[in-house]
Amino acid sequence: MQAVSHPPANADEILHNVPRVDGVVPMYVGGAWRLAADGATRDVCNPANGLAIATVAEGGAADAEAAILAARRAFDDGPWGTMSAADRAALLFKLADAIDAHREEFMRIDTLNNGKPLRETEYDAVDAANCFRYYAGLATKPHGQTFDVPAPSQTFTVREPIGVCGQIVPWNYPLLMAVWKLAPALAAGNVCVLKPSELTPLSTIRLAALFEELEFPAGVVNVVLGPGATVGHTLAASALVDKIAFTGGTKTGRSIMHDATSNLKKISLELGGKSPNVVFADADFDTAVDYALFGIFANAGQVCSAGSRLILQRSLHDRFVERLVERAQKIRVGDGFDPQTEMGPIISPVHRERVESYIRAGEEEGAQLLCGGNRLGGPLASGNFIAPTIFDDTSPGMRIVQEEIFGPVLVVQTFDDEAQAVALANDTVYGLAGAVFTNDIAKAHRVIRKMRAGITWINTYHPTYNEAPWGGYKQSGIGRELGTYGYDAYTEVKQINVNLDVAPSGWFGQ
Ligand code: NDP
Repeated sequence: MQAVSHPPANADEILHNVPRVDGVVPMYVGGAWRLAADGATRDVCNPANGLAIATVAEGGAADAEAAILAARRAFDDGPWGTMSAADRAALLFKLADAIDAHREEFMRIDTLNNGKPLRETEYDAVDAANCFRYYAGLATKPHGQTFDVPAPSQTFTVREPIGVCGQIVPWNYPLLMAVWKLAPALAAGNVCVLKPSELTPLSTIRLAALFEELEFPAGVVNVVLGPGATVGHTLAASALVDKIAFTGGTKTGRSIMHDATSNLKKISLELGGKSPNVVFADADFDTAVDYALFGIFANAGQVCSAGSRLILQRSLHDRFVERLVERAQKIRVGDGFDPQTEMGPIISPVHRERVESYIRAGEEEGAQLLCGGNRLGGPLASGNFIAPTIFDDTSPGMRIVQEEIFGPVLVVQTFDDEAQAVALANDTVYGLAGAVFTNDIAKAHRVIRKMRAGITWINTYHPTYNEAPWGGYKQSGIGRELGTYGYDAYTEVKQINVNLDVAPSGWFGQ
């Protein structure tokens, strides 16, 4: 591991186009910028050095309710629902172009606020624009079905928007997670109240300014800031919200599901994971090592689908682990603005504590710490940095094997045969993602089909496509985002039956 130091980024210059009201980054509600009803604010920090970079409005329940009402009016009385799909699509295509035009700015805002290296925020910004493009295209494609029912009826379905969608997203992909929620919802004709994480609201507010510039009708997109416990809870519990969509931790997902019972609103949950990466002895060695590193250390392991359990065939184990540790120790950790940096910081001091508590638990449970496990000092001491960490000699019951750490911590497990590999892969409450590396294509397919996970890869890790569904089995969530599945999740299906022989039936009282 090598520490990369870098002078602090110039926050004022990077955030130049982020709207302010009285010097505070505001919320976007009903097409207007507003501060919190009670005037509360909070500072947002750069995780690479702990410095405050902006003061943002700290909304509460009253602000969430105002945003819900604005969205309700926009859906019930505004032009969005009756606008043709082609017109909605045209606006969404313009938005995609606007994101592209400001790509560098979005990259820098998210690197400043989240800490991840520019090469990762570039991917996020490109993908965000393409996500809007994908759903803009989908808006005008056929969505209904016709049915061959007994005469004299003609039966078919149409898809209609659900209505007001509450959307709650985390801090690990600030721009992209907001876009994964907004793009399908808007394309399908819904209106949105989005709550970003309190830690990373800046790129979402910048995005809201683009919605304003492009003259999306007022109230179609609302961004409300504030804590999950008040603002998020209000969105999930409100009887005026028709759907709640959430990405974040499984514990929070459970609480949102409980809140959503108030009016039995539709619900989509994208939750945590403890995803297995199974490597057989016949795999391409260098490729498997490469993706094992990428699977866990991309975004410093703060990825729901991270390959956080490396499940190695015993005959391969020693050679593989040796190379893995050698490469992990060469990872350049530092400020995401330095082009040398390969891995950035943990999002916050609180989350770093949480990751460290798992590292301590691993040592106490008797796992062998092969590398990392420590904070980074020297020029990186003021940021929330943890060295890439690998544990070996684990057993399936250990907390570090079972629980989502959400940091740069890899645990190694060992198997002898295919059946044991599958058993280990499936041995957690999660089922988000998984991968297998082998040159035996039949074995690869057998193992993948037995994996209880929603997103899987053969001989690769992490590629994610706007076109393909994203979501988990078991306690990793409910429903799917992206692709046509993600669009359908923002629609109601209406069955329409037309009588082609208009005459009384004579069933009663003749
Ligand atoms: P949370 O699940 O708490 O946060 C995600 C979002 O939910 C944030 O916007 C948060 O608001 C909001 N939220 C929090 N509590 C509620 C609530 N009661 N009702 C409605 N919304 C709420 O994640 P944390 O940041 O606390 O991280 C905890 C763990 O969750 C991580 O260690 C990781 O294991 C997991 N996680 C998984 C993610 C994933 O992509 N699967 C993403 C992030 C975390 P606020 O602004 O207050 O944080």
